[in-house]
Amino acid sequence: MKNIKGTGFLNSVIFDMDGVIVDGMPYHIESWKKALSTVGISVTDLEIYLMEGMTGEETIKELINKKKKSLSDVSIRSVLKLKRKIFNDIFTVKLMKGSKELLLELHRLDYLLALVTGTRLEVVKKVLQMGLDNVFKIVITGEMVSNGKPNPEPYLKAVNELGVNKKDCLVVENAPAGIASAKNAGLTCFAVQTSLPGEYLKDADKIFQSIDELSAFLIKS
Ligand SMILES: [Mg+2]
Repeated sequence: MKNIKGTGFLNSVIFDMDGVIVDGMPYHIESWKKALSTVGISVTDLEIYLMEGMTGEETIKELINKKKKSLSDVSIRSVLKLKRKIFNDIFTVKLMKGSKELLLELHRLDYLLALVTGTRLEVVKKVLQMGLDNVFKIVITGEMVSNGKPNPEPYLKAVNELGVNKKDCLVVENAPAGIASAKNAGLTCFAVQTSLPGEYLKDADKIFQSIDELSAFLIKS
């Protein structure tokens, strides 16, 4: 067990999924753009990256607000359904460089590991099938919470289910909503700069350029 400066004795690590474990964001962005274009809404990559971590429902509602559009609940549901269909058609699991090695090593060292994502279970299962199905003690997906990131609920749920003290727990994130969720939950949060520039990640306790750099810090230091 390691003492991370300013925290307790680290015994558990909670990982975000997209942009940390799996390179899923390009598929989310493509499917959002295509689905939203059917109702006349155009979005930039950055707009989607800044909402990374939120559930699908929350993402579309926030976008409609931001774009000052008005869509019926039926239209919202059909856009979301279309987005998910496009995503499922194009999504191919590609793990982030170094993520599997880090997870397997932390697991081998007896750290308790959890996965907390706004993505749905059917997608998460495809990721876990890449040799990660025995690594996580707890998996929290988008449909398991009432309020997704940046609300603290997803990370608080993981901490409670792991049965650990917050001060002994570290969150690894890559997006502002996830960092806010972890910090709002009272947790230490490290960020990896895998999708957004560091200026968007400054609320994290520490920023790493890559998973490999994080691994070197966690395992070798
Ligand atoms: Mg992420």
